[in-house]
Amino acid sequence: MKDMMQNSGVVKRLLEEAIDRWGSDRQMIKCCEEMGELTQAICKRFDRGPGTDDAFEVEAIVEEMVDVEIMLEQLRMILKVDPAMEQRWLERKLRRLMVRLGG
Ligand SMILES: [Mg+2]
Repeated sequence: MKDMMQNSGVVKRLLEEAIDRWGSDRQMIKCCEEMGELTQAICKRFDRGPGTDDAFEVEAIVEEMVDVEIMLEQLRMILKVDPAMEQRWLERKLRRLMVRLGG
């Protein structure tokens, strides 16, 4: 998903247009809102009643995951995040997870 967004010129231009139109501050707040919506969608899964449609629930979570991915990509653009720095953090966090899992 991240690669798809970063490697597509069309998507990049679309996200740049969104940042230009609504401004960096608004898009950063929007990012927070979307993360909140994802949190809510995940939490709903633990607050389900009988007869809840699992596929519907999963789709609701995926929808919010995609919203967050789109906003994270805009956050990368707004903050001019160095991809090498992000990669280093990713590797550091994955190594830490591996250690925690006893690997
Ligand atoms: Mg949303």
